[in-house]
Amino acid sequence: MKVLIIDDDADDRLLLREYLQGHGFAVAEAINGEDGLCQALAFQPDAILSDVLMPKMDGLQFLRHLKQDAALRHIHVILYTAKFTGEDEKKFAESLGACAYIVRPDTVGELHARLKTAIDGCRQSCPPEVASGSYLTTEEYHATHSRIISAKLHEKMQQLQEATEKHRQAEEFIHNILESIDEGFAVIGPDYKVILANKWYCCSLKQRVEEIKGNFCYEVSHQLRQPCFMEGQECAVRETFRTGTSHSGMHVHTDSDGKPMYVEIKSYPMTDATGAIISVIETVNDITEKRKLEEQLYHAQKMESVGRLAGGVAHDFNNFLSIIIGYGTLLEMNIPKDSPLRADIREILNAGDRAATLTKSLLAFSRKQPSNPMLMDLNDTISVIGKLLAKLVGEDIEINVTLSAQKLFLMADSGQISQVLMNLATNARDAMPNRGRLTISTDSIHLSPEFVQAHGYGEPGMYALLAVTDTGTGMDEEVRSHIFDPFFTTKEEGKGTGLGLSIVYGIVKQHNGYINVYSEPGLGTTFKIYLPLLQSAGEKEQGEVRSALQGGTETVLIAEDDGQVRSITRDILEGYGYKVIEAEDGEAAVDQFTRHAESIDLLLFDVMMPKANGWEAYQEITELRPGVPILFMSGYPMDVIRSKGILTSEENYLTKPVSPEELLRRVREVLDKKAKEKLGR
Ligand code: ADP
Ligand code: MG
Repeated sequence: MKVLIIDDDADDRLLLREYLQGHGFAVAEAINGEDGLCQALAFQPDAILSDVLMPKMDGLQFLRHLKQDAALRHIHVILYTAKFTGEDEKKFAESLGACAYIVRPDTVGELHARLKTAIDGCRQSCPPEVASGSYLTTEEYHATHSRIISAKLHEKMQQLQEATEKHRQAEEFIHNILESIDEGFAVIGPDYKVILANKWYCCSLKQRVEEIKGNFCYEVSHQLRQPCFMEGQECAVRETFRTGTSHSGMHVHTDSDGKPMYVEIKSYPMTDATGAIISVIETVNDITEKRKLEEQLYHAQKMESVGRLAGGVAHDFNNFLSIIIGYGTLLEMNIPKDSPLRADIREILNAGDRAATLTKSLLAFSRKQPSNPMLMDLNDTISVIGKLLAKLVGEDIEINVTLSAQKLFLMADSGQISQVLMNLATNARDAMPNRGRLTISTDSIHLSPEFVQAHGYGEPGMYALLAVTDTGTGMDEEVRSHIFDPFFTTKEEGKGTGLGLSIVYGIVKQHNGYINVYSEPGLGTTFKIYLPLLQSAGEKEQGEVRSALQGGTETVLIAEDDGQVRSITRDILEGYGYKVIEAEDGEAAVDQFTRHAESIDLLLFDVMMPKANGWEAYQEITELRPGVPILFMSGYPMDVIRSKGILTSEENYLTKPVSPEELLRRVREVLDKKAKEKLGR
């Protein structure tokens, strides 16, 4: 049996052809009624399966023509339709001579079943030779035909509208997703033109979507005239086009103002039905902030470990220096004024001083330099040191000092702050070999939580801001990233030690402050230093006042495992009238105390000692006699000692190396305080 399929939809024709051929039919196809008439003449089918709605000539018109053609009217015609509007059309089709009228079901299986029934029906009935529909006048035919077809078209239009609306909603849904996400999303074509870009992508480049879509990605995101990969950069999009797999990479995007932004790019292939890559999806994440924090963390960690190394070496040196300087000073005090040995001793002390300076630099950097924080006004310190700075930088450099109107009270070591200024001024001088201007200014500033977040460092609060600006050579990024490293210098040998800024850094950190540098080659340099301000009157009163140097007659128990440090300490104290009892470790100290309990007025204990450390020994002793005054001393700064679980306050803590003056002053202070307390009771 031969069957002709007439349908304008190629997929539908294929479906029907496969079914029919599978059942042993010979099949021909036509794409509309007109074509169907020609094919019918040529192919001479036994039956025709025709769609109803088709362009040029629909199924009903086709049927009418066929039945009016004597050569064709014997052929069985089965009409099928997807848009069934009612029994009316079925009746009309039958009146025109259709032997079956099928409404297309939703499933293929059902369609096949209906087809089978219809074809079987046609096979059994004799060919409808009669020119059916002849009882209709031409007018009646046209009227019914146009009514039915327009009803069917209306139905189809509605379906189309629904489909369009669904499509629009789906598009809007995807659009909303893309516009809501907090990262860039773009589709890039094989010619590197942007096919689609979401809001984030456009905003991050400070451009409107119209300026981005249809333009080259390297133009909009890199302000380049040729692809980035031709400029030697890696390009994830290109890699994805090349390999068909996803890629990722770091890039620097530049917005329309030329501002750089570090981004992480990921690219994914988009393929067509055949698997060929038609475009690449690119996602963009801003990692500028993350990178900044990582760099800061890296820098902090580096400074921390270098500091620990430098501090460790310097710490051991200090013990030796205490001995050299201590004994030297004693000798100088005791030797007759006219002795020829005095000059030799002076040499020893001078060398000791120079060694102490170097060690101090390292200790300052590693924040292990003993610091004497006192109440001070930053503006005062600057005024005092101003003349010295002018001498330091020379006449060719103009100095401008702008101090804040209000006083800037700090708890700081004014010697250290002066050192910061001198080091910065020295560097400024070196950066301005032929004239220039050095500007020093102060201000008070509130570091807001927003500032802290933007800069990635700092505790919010009130700070004194010290800014030191020069009009010198400036620095590039490479130099800038190393300036605080100890021994980093760009100066020729003999001119620079590379310790100046390391010291500044250490001192600023020791004062719980922050330092920042702004510099570009040729544009000069500004250092900004933030130091916590003392605000309340109460805080200000806590500032210490130095007392004059005095000795005494009290008895001091010294516990120190380093024999030399112990004897120099004893010698200094005895030299000023004190009685001294010695112990070489913690156990011995407790032992000595038990023996001389009544006569001991003060404990002077090293912290790190064998057997029992200073803290443990002190604990045992306070059980024997509560309230006995103590002074701890150690080469470690107090915060290190604290971190070892030893609770002490600055009041009874001495950092080695202890100068004789410092030792005598602090011993006196503690004893006097105790005496006052006794009187008070
Ligand atoms: P030194 O001055 O001994 O080289 P510093 O630690 O003081 O060591 O400074 C380190 C380096 O930082 C200098 O060698 C110089 O390259 C750079 N530098 C510091 N301050 C400035 C400045 N004001 N202008 C330009 N470069 C500077
Ligand atoms: Mg320097």
